[in-house]
Amino acid sequence: MLTNSVDQTLRRRADRVVPGSMWGHLHAGKLPPGFPQFYARAEGARVWDVDGRCYLDFMCAWGPNLLGYGNAEVDEAALRQQSLGDTMNGPSEAMVELAELLVETVGHADWAMFQKNGTDATTTCVTIARAATGRRKVLIGRGAYHGAAPWCSPSVVGVTAEDRTHLCYFDYNDLGSLEAAAREAGADLAAIIVSPVRQERELDQEFPTPQFANAVRAICDRTDAVLILDEVRTGLRLHLEGSWQPLGIEPDLAAWSKALANGYPLAAVTGKDHLRAAAAGIFVTGSFWCSAVPMAAGIATINIVKRERVIERLLDMGGRLRAGIAALAERHGVALRQTGPVQMPSIRFDNDPGLRKGDLFCQAALDKGVYFHPWHNMFLSASHGLAEIEEAIAAADVALAAVAERFGG
Ligand code: PMP
Repeated sequence: MLTNSVDQTLRRRADRVVPGSMWGHLHAGKLPPGFPQFYARAEGARVWDVDGRCYLDFMCAWGPNLLGYGNAEVDEAALRQQSLGDTMNGPSEAMVELAELLVETVGHADWAMFQKNGTDATTTCVTIARAATGRRKVLIGRGAYHGAAPWCSPSVVGVTAEDRTHLCYFDYNDLGSLEAAAREAGADLAAIIVSPVRQERELDQEFPTPQFANAVRAICDRTDAVLILDEVRTGLRLHLEGSWQPLGIEPDLAAWSKALANGYPLAAVTGKDHLRAAAAGIFVTGSFWCSAVPMAAGIATINIVKRERVIERLLDMGGRLRAGIAALAERHGVALRQTGPVQMPSIRFDNDPGLRKGDLFCQAALDKGVYFHPWHNMFLSASHGLAEIEEAIAAADVALAAVAERFGG
């Protein structure tokens, strides 16, 4: 990395005026050298860094890019609303239309409320569950990510023990630990919050076993607790009606964000009728929670996902990418694991403590103009077509050759 690059200059400037130069998981220091911190623009399946380098992008802004950056139909809907008004004294008609669309589309949804970020949505779900049950304890997966608020942040820096007092932890797909956590909560169990797929950083992804998903539902039914499904990462990518719909399991509440408006800032909570009164009874709000532009974008996004069968396309392209990389890995004699939904790829190498192989693989792919991520699940968008998948596989070929050369094939 050149020290006089625009990216490096911006990092130095940021360091003086932004604590740590960047916060959270988007800090480029959490990626191997060579990855940019700053971006100039994005279009379709590609992002350009501030030094003009273009990458075929498999992070999709960490999820929000579902249809392609700058999708014309979504942007037109947003612009139309922008010309009328965005943040006003209250919501526009778009809020009602978007809620109607979610109720019509999502299996469990009898109503919807809107926020900005995923953390707003998961936190609102927990508040509704406590309001509805009058209880305090929440069961949460050990290591699961549900946002950056003190009750759920992966860091305990600046967080008090009291913020977490009423959490009981279980291990994903582990029935014994789930039942033990429910026993620990006892009569004070308000909710179980769970993600549709296990997607912790630096771990292989895991689909829920039917037994686990059924047990989560059964415990909530038995104890009148609330099942909260965290769809922030999976929403609109796995199943339009809700990610556990194919398992025949509906949550009582779900939290949505990321892909919901194809990059416009929007989050939602959807819920069942029996929680309507509790949801109406809590106090939640934000200065920008009812801004109309993201809602217009959300309506357009959901309509496109339905009309264009976007999830089928993601499955098809994701399947091709996975098969292509698996074949290459075998040819290069490099042992790796690709886990979880193909729409949200995860590539991890065997015998790779410290992620040295993963880092090298991603750096070599980046040199070929393809942006893969070494420790987080990735994302496909509808603008990843056959040509893009071929391009990614060609870059993976070179990157796997580099791994084989350095670490042995
Ligand atoms: N839940 C899950 C499963 C997430 O992946 C995220 C974001 N990575 C969140 C909640 C929090 O969303 P946000 O960063 O928009 O607050």
